[in-house]
Amino acid sequence: MADVASGFRCPICRSTDAESWLTLSYPIARCGGCGLLRLHPPPDDATLAAAYAEGYAPHIRTGISGRAKSWLERRSVRQLQHYLAPPRRVLDVGCATGELLLAVREAGNAHIVGVEPGADAAATARQQGLDVRVGTLEDAAFTDRSVDTIIASHTLEHVPEPVETLREMHRVLRPGGALILWLPNVESVEARVLGRRWIGYDPPRHLTTFGVSTLNHALTEAGFRMVEVRHEAVGLEWAWGFRRWLRERRPALEHAIAPAHPLLIVAATPLAAIGALSRRSGRIRVIAVKPVD
Ligand SMILES: [Zn+2]
Repeated sequence: MADVASGFRCPICRSTDAESWLTLSYPIARCGGCGLLRLHPPPDDATLAAAYAEGYAPHIRTGISGRAKSWLERRSVRQLQHYLAPPRRVLDVGCATGELLLAVREAGNAHIVGVEPGADAAATARQQGLDVRVGTLEDAAFTDRSVDTIIASHTLEHVPEPVETLREMHRVLRPGGALILWLPNVESVEARVLGRRWIGYDPPRHLTTFGVSTLNHALTEAGFRMVEVRHEAVGLEWAWGFRRWLRERRPALEHAIAPAHPLLIVAATPLAAIGALSRRSGRIRVIAVKPVD
Protein backbone atom coordinates (compact mmCIF):
# COMPACT_ATOMS: atom_id res chain seq x y z
CA MET A 1 0.00 0.00 0.00
CA ALA A 2 1.25 3.47 -0.88
CA ASP A 3 2.49 5.67 1.93
CA VAL A 4 -0.37 7.96 3.08
CA ALA A 5 1.95 10.98 3.06
CA SER A 6 3.32 10.32 -0.45
CA GLY A 7 3.07 13.60 -2.39
CA PHE A 8 1.32 15.39 0.51
CA ARG A 9 2.09 19.06 1.09
CA CYS A 10 0.03 21.04 3.58
CA PRO A 11 -1.23 24.35 2.16
CA ILE A 12 -0.98 25.97 5.60
CA CYS A 13 2.20 24.74 7.30
CA ARG A 14 3.87 23.11 4.24
CA SER A 15 4.49 19.91 6.17
CA THR A 16 4.95 16.84 3.95
CA ASP A 17 4.03 14.52 6.80
CA ALA A 18 0.49 13.12 6.97
CA GLU A 19 -1.47 10.25 8.45
CA SER A 20 -4.72 8.59 7.43
CA TRP A 21 -7.76 10.24 9.05
CA LEU A 22 -10.74 8.57 7.41
CA THR A 23 -11.49 6.83 4.14
CA LEU A 24 -14.83 7.66 2.56
CA SER A 25 -15.25 7.52 -1.22
CA TYR A 26 -11.84 9.28 -1.08
CA PRO A 27 -9.10 9.01 1.51
CA ILE A 28 -8.75 11.96 3.88
CA ALA A 29 -5.31 12.66 5.32
CA ARG A 30 -4.48 14.66 8.44
CA CYS A 31 -1.46 16.95 8.25
CA GLY A 32 1.25 15.87 10.67
CA GLY A 33 2.27 19.51 11.19
CA CYS A 34 -0.97 21.37 11.89
CA GLY A 35 -3.84 18.86 11.79
CA LEU A 36 -5.49 20.17 8.62
CA LEU A 37 -7.63 17.56 6.83
CA ARG A 38 -7.23 17.18 3.06
CA LEU A 39 -8.46 14.74 0.43
CA HIS A 40 -5.23 12.98 -0.48
CA PRO A 41 -4.46 12.07 -3.17
CA PRO A 42 -6.71 14.84 -4.56
CA PRO A 43 -9.47 13.86 -7.03
CA ASP A 44 -8.74 14.52 -10.71
CA ASP A 45 -10.49 17.17 -12.82
CA ALA A 46 -12.89 14.72 -14.49
CA THR A 47 -14.04 13.41 -11.10
CA LEU A 48 -14.65 16.95 -9.84
CA ALA A 49 -16.48 17.99 -13.00
CA ALA A 50 -18.80 14.98 -12.61
CA ALA A 51 -19.37 15.77 -8.93
CA TYR A 52 -20.60 19.29 -9.76
CA ALA A 53 -22.32 18.38 -13.03
CA GLU A 54 -25.93 17.98 -12.06
CA GLY A 55 -28.12 18.09 -9.04
CA TYR A 56 -25.53 19.81 -6.87
CA ALA A 57 -27.83 20.81 -4.01
CA PRO A 58 -26.41 24.30 -3.23
CA HIS A 59 -27.10 25.31 -6.83
CA ILE A 60 -30.76 24.28 -6.72
CA ARG A 61 -33.50 26.26 -5.03
CA THR A 62 -36.78 24.45 -4.87
CA GLY A 63 -39.55 23.82 -2.35
CA ILE A 64 -39.40 24.34 1.38
CA SER A 65 -35.65 23.81 1.75
CA GLY A 66 -34.99 26.45 -0.92
CA ARG A 67 -37.18 28.91 0.94
CA ALA A 68 -35.55 27.98 4.25
CA LYS A 69 -32.09 28.69 2.79
CA SER A 70 -33.25 32.05 1.47
CA TRP A 71 -34.71 32.93 4.87
CA LEU A 72 -31.43 32.04 6.61
CA GLU A 73 -29.48 34.14 4.12
CA ARG A 74 -31.70 37.18 4.61
CA ARG A 75 -31.33 36.78 8.38
CA SER A 76 -27.53 36.62 8.02
CA VAL A 77 -27.52 39.77 5.90
CA ARG A 78 -29.61 41.62 8.52
CA GLN A 79 -27.15 40.54 11.25
CA LEU A 80 -24.19 41.66 9.14
CA GLN A 81 -25.38 45.11 8.07
CA HIS A 82 -22.32 46.64 9.73
CA TYR A 83 -20.26 44.98 6.97
CA LEU A 84 -22.75 44.87 4.11
CA ALA A 85 -24.63 48.19 4.08
CA PRO A 86 -23.82 50.95 1.56
CA PRO A 87 -21.45 52.49 0.67
CA ARG A 88 -19.44 49.29 1.12
CA ARG A 89 -18.43 47.40 -2.01
CA VAL A 90 -19.26 43.74 -1.44
CA LEU A 91 -17.75 40.76 -3.27
CA ASP A 92 -19.22 37.24 -2.98
CA VAL A 93 -16.67 34.53 -3.83
CA GLY A 94 -18.39 31.32 -4.89
CA CYS A 95 -21.76 33.06 -5.10
CA ALA A 96 -23.57 30.10 -6.79
CA THR A 97 -26.97 31.34 -8.00
CA GLY A 98 -26.50 34.65 -6.21
CA GLU A 99 -29.01 34.31 -3.37
CA LEU A 100 -26.77 35.94 -0.78
CA LEU A 101 -26.01 38.83 -3.14
CA LEU A 102 -29.73 39.24 -3.82
CA ALA A 103 -30.32 39.48 -0.08
CA VAL A 104 -27.62 42.18 0.15
CA ARG A 105 -29.25 44.05 -2.75
CA GLU A 106 -32.72 43.73 -1.18
CA ALA A 107 -31.29 45.23 2.00
CA GLY A 108 -30.33 48.32 -0.01
CA ASN A 109 -26.78 47.86 -1.31
CA ALA A 110 -26.25 47.80 -5.10
CA HIS A 111 -22.40 47.86 -4.90
CA ILE A 112 -22.17 44.09 -5.27
CA VAL A 113 -20.29 41.66 -7.46
CA GLY A 114 -19.95 37.89 -7.50
CA VAL A 115 -17.54 35.24 -8.74
CA GLU A 116 -18.70 31.71 -9.52
CA PRO A 117 -16.90 28.90 -11.39
CA GLY A 118 -20.13 27.01 -12.20
CA ALA A 119 -21.36 28.45 -15.50
CA ASP A 120 -24.99 27.37 -15.04
CA ALA A 121 -25.24 28.78 -11.52
CA ALA A 122 -23.58 32.03 -12.68
CA ALA A 123 -26.05 32.31 -15.57
CA THR A 124 -28.97 31.96 -13.13
CA ALA A 125 -27.47 34.75 -11.01
CA ARG A 126 -27.04 36.99 -14.04
CA GLN A 127 -30.68 36.51 -15.00
CA GLN A 128 -31.45 38.34 -11.73
CA GLY A 129 -29.42 41.30 -12.96
CA LEU A 130 -26.39 40.52 -10.81
CA ASP A 131 -22.83 41.25 -11.94
CA VAL A 132 -21.31 37.77 -11.70
CA ARG A 133 -17.94 36.82 -13.26
CA VAL A 134 -17.61 33.18 -14.35
CA GLY A 135 -14.44 31.54 -13.07
CA THR A 136 -12.25 31.64 -10.00
CA LEU A 137 -11.40 34.67 -7.88
CA GLU A 138 -7.95 34.72 -9.48
CA ASP A 139 -9.53 34.71 -12.98
CA ALA A 140 -11.58 37.81 -12.12
CA ALA A 141 -8.34 39.75 -11.39
CA PHE A 142 -9.86 42.49 -9.24
CA THR A 143 -7.64 45.46 -8.53
CA ASP A 144 -5.82 45.82 -5.21
CA ARG A 145 -7.86 47.10 -2.27
CA SER A 146 -10.98 47.55 -4.42
CA VAL A 147 -13.49 45.83 -2.10
CA ASP A 148 -14.68 46.63 1.46
CA THR A 149 -16.20 43.26 2.39
CA ILE A 150 -15.78 39.76 0.98
CA ILE A 151 -18.35 37.08 1.71
CA ALA A 152 -17.72 33.40 0.93
CA SER A 153 -20.38 30.93 1.93
CA HIS A 154 -19.19 27.32 1.82
CA THR A 155 -16.42 28.16 -0.65
CA LEU A 156 -13.07 27.72 1.07
CA GLU A 157 -13.48 23.95 1.52
CA HIS A 158 -13.93 23.61 -2.28
CA VAL A 159 -10.88 25.47 -3.59
CA PRO A 160 -7.67 23.52 -4.33
CA GLU A 161 -5.29 25.93 -2.58
CA PRO A 162 -7.23 27.64 0.22
CA VAL A 163 -4.35 29.71 1.60
CA GLU A 164 -3.62 31.06 -1.90
CA THR A 165 -7.31 31.96 -2.24
CA LEU A 166 -7.21 33.71 1.15
CA ARG A 167 -4.12 35.65 0.05
CA GLU A 168 -5.94 36.76 -3.11
CA MET A 169 -8.91 37.88 -0.97
CA HIS A 170 -6.47 39.78 1.23
CA ARG A 171 -5.00 41.55 -1.83
CA VAL A 172 -8.43 42.59 -3.11
CA LEU A 173 -9.69 43.87 0.27
CA ARG A 174 -8.98 47.35 1.51
CA PRO A 175 -7.06 47.58 4.81
CA GLY A 176 -9.63 47.36 7.60
CA GLY A 177 -11.98 45.42 5.31
CA ALA A 178 -13.68 42.23 6.45
CA LEU A 179 -13.87 38.67 5.20
CA ILE A 180 -16.97 36.72 6.24
CA LEU A 181 -16.83 32.94 5.80
CA TRP A 182 -19.39 30.21 6.35
CA LEU A 183 -18.04 26.67 6.50
CA PRO A 184 -18.21 23.26 8.17
CA ASN A 185 -16.25 22.79 11.39
CA VAL A 186 -14.68 19.40 12.02
CA GLU A 187 -13.95 20.39 15.63
CA SER A 188 -17.64 19.84 16.36
CA VAL A 189 -20.08 17.62 18.22
CA GLU A 190 -21.63 16.70 14.84
CA ALA A 191 -18.34 15.53 13.27
CA ARG A 192 -17.44 13.57 16.39
CA VAL A 193 -20.81 11.82 16.81
CA LEU A 194 -21.72 11.33 13.15
CA GLY A 195 -18.19 10.29 12.07
CA ARG A 196 -18.09 9.23 8.42
CA ARG A 197 -21.78 10.19 8.06
CA TRP A 198 -21.00 13.86 8.81
CA ILE A 199 -22.00 15.86 5.75
CA GLY A 200 -19.14 18.31 6.33
CA TYR A 201 -16.69 15.88 4.69
CA ASP A 202 -18.64 15.70 1.41
CA PRO A 203 -15.94 14.12 -0.83
CA PRO A 204 -14.86 14.72 -3.55
CA ARG A 205 -16.18 18.32 -3.45
CA HIS A 206 -14.66 19.31 -0.10
CA LEU A 207 -10.94 19.18 -0.78
CA THR A 208 -10.09 20.60 2.65
CA THR A 209 -11.92 20.17 5.94
CA PHE A 210 -11.23 22.91 8.45
CA GLY A 211 -11.77 23.22 12.16
CA VAL A 212 -11.77 26.53 14.04
CA SER A 213 -8.08 26.15 14.91
CA THR A 214 -6.84 25.18 11.43
CA LEU A 215 -8.95 27.94 9.87
CA ASN A 216 -7.45 30.46 12.28
CA HIS A 217 -4.00 29.23 11.30
CA ALA A 218 -4.81 29.57 7.55
CA LEU A 219 -6.24 33.08 8.02
CA THR A 220 -3.15 34.17 9.95
CA GLU A 221 -0.87 32.77 7.22
CA ALA A 222 -2.75 34.89 4.67
CA GLY A 223 -2.45 38.08 6.75
CA PHE A 224 -5.93 38.14 8.33
CA ARG A 225 -6.95 38.43 11.96
CA MET A 226 -9.91 36.28 13.04
CA VAL A 227 -12.26 38.43 15.15
CA GLU A 228 -15.47 36.43 15.53
CA VAL A 229 -16.63 32.81 15.35
CA ARG A 230 -20.37 32.22 15.45
CA HIS A 231 -21.50 28.64 16.07
CA GLU A 232 -24.75 28.17 14.15
CA ALA A 233 -27.58 25.99 15.45
CA VAL A 234 -29.04 24.44 12.30
CA GLY A 235 -30.19 20.80 12.39
CA LEU A 236 -29.09 20.12 8.83
CA GLU A 237 -26.09 17.95 9.65
CA TRP A 238 -28.03 15.79 12.13
CA ALA A 239 -30.84 15.38 9.57
CA TRP A 240 -28.38 14.24 6.90
CA GLY A 241 -26.50 12.04 9.38
CA PHE A 242 -29.73 10.33 10.39
CA ARG A 243 -30.74 9.79 6.76
CA ARG A 244 -27.36 8.28 5.92
CA TRP A 245 -27.58 5.99 8.93
CA LEU A 246 -31.08 4.92 7.89
CA ARG A 247 -30.07 4.50 4.24
CA GLU A 248 -27.54 1.86 5.28
CA ARG A 249 -30.22 -0.12 7.15
CA ARG A 250 -33.60 0.59 5.56
CA PRO A 251 -33.04 2.26 2.16
CA ALA A 252 -36.75 2.13 1.24
CA LEU A 253 -37.71 3.87 4.46
CA GLU A 254 -34.99 6.49 3.96
CA HIS A 255 -36.35 7.15 0.48
CA ALA A 256 -39.87 7.45 1.85
CA ILE A 257 -38.94 10.08 4.45
CA ALA A 258 -36.88 12.19 2.01
CA PRO A 259 -39.76 14.69 1.45
CA ALA A 260 -39.83 15.30 5.21
CA HIS A 261 -36.20 16.49 5.20
CA PRO A 262 -37.08 20.07 6.24
CA LEU A 263 -39.06 18.68 9.21
CA LEU A 264 -36.08 16.53 10.18
CA ILE A 265 -33.92 19.64 10.17
CA VAL A 266 -36.35 21.44 12.48
CA ALA A 267 -36.64 18.37 14.73
CA ALA A 268 -32.84 18.18 14.99
CA THR A 269 -32.38 21.84 15.89
CA PRO A 270 -32.28 21.18 19.68
CA LEU A 271 -29.42 18.74 19.05
CA ALA A 272 -27.66 21.36 16.96
CA ALA A 273 -28.18 23.86 19.77
CA ILE A 274 -26.05 21.67 22.06
CA GLY A 275 -23.12 22.04 19.65
CA ALA A 276 -23.73 25.75 19.26
CA LEU A 277 -23.99 26.42 23.00
CA SER A 278 -20.82 24.46 23.69
CA ARG A 279 -19.12 26.39 20.86
CA ARG A 280 -18.55 23.14 18.98
CA SER A 281 -21.06 23.48 16.15
CA GLY A 282 -20.59 21.73 12.82
CA ARG A 283 -21.44 24.95 10.97
CA ILE A 284 -19.61 28.17 11.71
CA ARG A 285 -19.61 31.76 10.50
CA VAL A 286 -16.25 33.44 10.84
CA ILE A 287 -15.34 37.10 10.52
CA ALA A 288 -11.73 38.05 9.85
CA VAL A 289 -10.27 41.48 9.15
CA LYS A 290 -7.38 42.68 7.05
CA PRO A 291 -5.41 44.76 9.56
CA VAL A 292 -4.69 48.38 8.70
CA ASP A 293 -0.96 48.58 8.04
ZN1 LIG B 1 -0.29 21.51 8.06
